[in-house]
Amino acid sequence: MRKLSVVNIDAGLFSILDSVTDPEVPVLTILDLGIVREAVFTDDGLIKIVITPTYSGCPAMDVIQFEINAALENAGFHNAIIETNLSPAWTTDWMTEEGKEKLKKYGIAPPAEKTSDPSFLTGSGKVIACPHCGSNHTEMISLFGSTACKSLYKCNDCKEPFDYFKCH
Ligand SMILES: [Zn+2]
Repeated sequence: MRKLSVVNIDAGLFSILDSVTDPEVPVLTILDLGIVREAVFTDDGLIKIVITPTYSGCPAMDVIQFEINAALENAGFHNAIIETNLSPAWTTDWMTEEGKEKLKKYGIAPPAEKTSDPSFLTGSGKVIACPHCGSNHTEMISLFGSTACKSLYKCNDCKEPFDYFKCH
């Protein structure tokens, strides 16, 4: 079992949840993202899942909830309730190291560290390292990249464009 930031996930649900991937970045599972804060069997025989969106209003969250339900249904669990918890807010500290590595290999710059700071959503004032060559000599071309959750950057050293992952 991979190391996750402090969360309460029942061992019987772990692999099911780990099969649910981010609709925008399919190499990442929702456990890599750290948005699942709790997944437990309740005394009433229900499954309670608590998720914290990467930021409120992220359009992919509805899809993710749907995917979680579908994965549980497939595994024979028909009694899940999914709750959303906005506080404390998600931070990139909740992403697994493995998840950040996967993002890099996918050619997306992982979120900068310590992003409870809201400016990370725009990437403004942050040095974003190029995922191709590692250079810090980069600039933002567009706040919105291939999707609303990414910004488009360009590396001034290797000249490659890349996406910066600003929410999930
Ligand atoms: Zn580069």
